[in-house]
Amino acid sequence: MTIGPSRTIGPSRIRVDACPGALQVHQAADGGLARIRVPGGALTAAQLRAVGAAARELGDGAVELTSRGNLQLRGLPPDAGRELGGRLAEAGLLPSETHERVRNLLASVLSGRAGGLLDVRPWVTEFDAALCAEPALAALPGRYLAAFDDGRGDVAGLGADVGLLALDDRTVALLLAGVDSGVRTAPDGAVGLALAATRAFLRERAAQGGTAWRLAELTDGPARVAERVDGAPVGTRVEVPAEPRTRPIGAVRQDDGRTALAAVVPLGRLTVAHLALLADLAAEIQLTPWRGVVVSDLADGSAAALLAEAGLVLDPASAWTRVTACAGLPGCAKSRADVRADATAAVVTRSLPAGGARQHWAGCERRCGRPGGAVVDVVATGSGYRIDEPAD
Ligand code: SF4
Repeated sequence: MTIGPSRTIGPSRIRVDACPGALQVHQAADGGLARIRVPGGALTAAQLRAVGAAARELGDGAVELTSRGNLQLRGLPPDAGRELGGRLAEAGLLPSETHERVRNLLASVLSGRAGGLLDVRPWVTEFDAALCAEPALAALPGRYLAAFDDGRGDVAGLGADVGLLALDDRTVALLLAGVDSGVRTAPDGAVGLALAATRAFLRERAAQGGTAWRLAELTDGPARVAERVDGAPVGTRVEVPAEPRTRPIGAVRQDDGRTALAAVVPLGRLTVAHLALLADLAAEIQLTPWRGVVVSDLADGSAAALLAEAGLVLDPASAWTRVTACAGLPGCAKSRADVRADATAAVVTRSLPAGGARQHWAGCERRCGRPGGAVVDVVATGSGYRIDEPAD
């Protein structure tokens, strides 16, 4: 079986990935950094309050959103892992100490509420529980990513190792490293298929030396993993939707007549006050992989004014919908500038480079957190910024 372009060899990984977790706190320039996995991005009001309390009492008072719909706390004391882990476990945010770093799971935003071919939320719950229940899957790299797309095409193109894409309400495609494998299942077999592909990734990874962090790093990874997924029928392959250029923002009418409010969080940084406001507004919110939040199941859109007043962005024309940044100074010692402060100043003074095009500000060449697709890079040089326009 051949899937997509053949890769001869992936990057040679000589160390185990060091992705931070809630218990495995990474030491950054501004203190400890912990990452809290939020499968499918779904958080209850009680969980928002628990995270807010942890940020206020243990960290620097803010919570960052990551491009995988997870959360990060910064400025933690070096030994914060135990205390934070206990709080998160109590809030239901740490169901497994052994598997916490591998629970990276994206799901279509608004699935089951507005649009989409089916509701992927039950898949998220089922996959996460099965992942945590299988000891061998704790060996997955912390970079491993799954994505469940309900057919709207919002997360299928985000480069997950294993993905599910609904093709209609009875047919689901298995994606491997963002490419259609041709393997199909009915919706009730989708989670089992994603788990089978996950186990197959681990087996193929072991066969190739056991050092790869991502499925795409394996030699002919998608084809070889597909061969290890037994007994599934093979269909005509489809083009996987690219990362969408526009996302829901503002008020969205749900299928049940209620309202969801989709907001961008400037530079992905939520304050404790934001968390409290979100918890007051809804029983559950969803974090998005584009550093936003969705407040669902509202009677109407009147809460939009409160969110906007708090600094969240519901205007599709806002420059904040097009600007992202890495941590920069003071959080990252490698940074040549306080990129967040500089990007904020450029937004506020309407002086964004490249005519305000979609852009990512970074403190060094690594360009951490860079979104996919056509993005202008604004890279700190130590004596200003270099603007790298995307190739046509
Ligand atoms: S891009 Fe460079 S400066 Fe920014 S967070 Fe990554 S390593 Fe640090």
